[in-house]
Amino acid sequence: MTTELEIGLYIFMLAGFLGYHVISRVPPLLHTPLMSATNAIAGISLVGSLIVAGADYGPLSTVLGFIAVTCSSTNVVGGFLITDRMLRMFKKKDDQTAQRRRIQIDPKMLLALAVLVISLLVLIYSYGGLSKDAVHFLRDVLATQALKYFYILSAALFILGLKGLSSPKYARKGMFLAEFGMLMAVVGTLFHHEIVTFQWIIIGFVIGAIVGGTMGLRIPMTAVPQRTALSHSLGALAACLVGISEYFRHHGELSKVVMTALGFEVVIGGLTFTGSLMAAAKLQGLLPGHPITYKGQNVFNLSLLAVIAGSLIYLVVVPTAGTLFYLMVGLAFVFGLLLVIPIGAADMPVVIALLNSYGGLADASMGFMLMNKIQIITGSLDGTSGFLLSLLMCRAMNRSAINVLFGAFGKIKKEEGGLAAEAKGNVRSIAPEEVAVLFDSARSVIIVPGYGMAVAQAQHGVSELAKLLMKRGIDVKYAIHPVAGRMPGHMNVLLAEANIPYDQLYPMEQINPYFPEADIALVVGANDVTNPAARNNKNSPLYGMPILEVDRAKSIIVLKRSLRPGFAGVDNELYYDPKCMMLFGDAKESLNRLFAALKS
Ligand code: NAP
Repeated sequence: MTTELEIGLYIFMLAGFLGYHVISRVPPLLHTPLMSATNAIAGISLVGSLIVAGADYGPLSTVLGFIAVTCSSTNVVGGFLITDRMLRMFKKKDDQTAQRRRIQIDPKMLLALAVLVISLLVLIYSYGGLSKDAVHFLRDVLATQALKYFYILSAALFILGLKGLSSPKYARKGMFLAEFGMLMAVVGTLFHHEIVTFQWIIIGFVIGAIVGGTMGLRIPMTAVPQRTALSHSLGALAACLVGISEYFRHHGELSKVVMTALGFEVVIGGLTFTGSLMAAAKLQGLLPGHPITYKGQNVFNLSLLAVIAGSLIYLVVVPTAGTLFYLMVGLAFVFGLLLVIPIGAADMPVVIALLNSYGGLADASMGFMLMNKIQIITGSLDGTSGFLLSLLMCRAMNRSAINVLFGAFGKIKKEEGGLAAEAKGNVRSIAPEEVAVLFDSARSVIIVPGYGMAVAQAQHGVSELAKLLMKRGIDVKYAIHPVAGRMPGHMNVLLAEANIPYDQLYPMEQINPYFPEADIALVVGANDVTNPAARNNKNSPLYGMPILEVDRAKSIIVLKRSLRPGFAGVDNELYYDPKCMMLFGDAKESLNRLFAALKS
């Protein structure tokens, strides 16, 4: 006979395949929203947290459950809000005119949802006024049966939600389905027969909604990478705490299967929590961004991992070894820190995507522990999405995941960058007024945004300049490299924020043939993604990375502050090309000056 575990494993595997199929169809344009959407869906750990916070498992479990509810609801509310905020920005040229005539949000739908939630909560509270038999029927028979179907429907809605991300046209509708799926799963769980009090659930949810809501609505688009990392850390902490609570409640008297799942949950949850916190701090500049390395670091980390794995195996055999369990959790926290310390800030996006995938695995492990299928499905979807995105980023950078995780990239390249810098020639600088003269005779311009545009928050300046050029009959296109900036799809989100229609954004493969015809390639804060060394110089660390072929344009104007290298730490040969002119300064200021010069 098929056991629950086997069914769970089948579900995990099939959800992974389905996730791969659906997520690999999400265009690079929507990769950043994809990250925050899977992040929100991974907030399904809320389901397990609600039970722990609301059941009568003892004070420690209630406290841990309360923290877990707070963390998970921060993710759900914040994740869905920021995804929607991003998706609202993606418009085609036609949509922008049509939008003025259309109502933006559907308030009736939101109202219906609120009414649904409130009536269900009232129903729960009205249990007290009902007879014992009626309560038994509602809670233990009807609600338990209904919950299974709620979960099945929620899983289907999550998959449809991710499917919607395969086109900007359907993305918001898809996300609405996913939000509805989450609401059903959460409301359904409130009927769980073990939940006896709602006090801590409500307080946790309100705090989570306020924190998540503020983050989702207020965080600038340039800070999306660190928000995503922070959010992963909260989701992972929730999973870890639920695991600890379950272990404590049963005093370690657990079957081998449950102990294995619980062990994975706390270890992966613990290391993802501290690793993601570290990643967020590096991206926010709270910690030094350069890789911190020491002799024998990889050996030490691998030994620590071996100790954790050994403890887990021992605990499966002797689950009651409580001290070892808590020691293992502590070591997992330390391992998360040590794993991220040797990785430079600029590699954090790959790390975030990988940690996203780990967070999914922690959720799925929680699902196996509680034998909750919805958590197995969403954990598997989240795991697949994070893994796929990290592979895509590595491929676009022409690097392996091993090199990203253990290569201390920024450090190595600084030295190589020094060597490369020796191969210099003359650099021509240009004033905004001279650039304006060049634009006077241009017919086609390709704008190449990069990380510097994000730093300078110059996306609105770019948009204004492009509008002015288009008014003068100049053809303007945007060239988007898959790893320009610091997140997959980072440039698309920023340009969408500045109201640039997404049909003007051309991915690398499509735009490259246009460069030889372009009169001007205007590079705004991009560096590595334009470096011809990736094509010509076998000794360059960038060699083999596909680039935007800016050097083939008739003339090139680069907006950056200095000749300093970008993320890869290598000198850019492009700046010594006779066709290339440097407009030095902060990108936003340079664009303002250029705009003024063009106007006058
Ligand atoms: P980049 O190579 O990092 O270069 C950015 C440039 O922006 C710098 O050279 C800097 O030069 C300039 N800059 C910084 N602040 C500026 C400001 N306020 N105004 C004007 N310029 C400013 O950026 P990129 O060309 O976008 O390439 C992205 C890099 O990140 C690639 O190497 C990629 O592999 C890596 N990466 C990306 C992802 C992803 O998913 N997108 C993931 C991992 C790694 P100055 O200091 O001289 O101004």
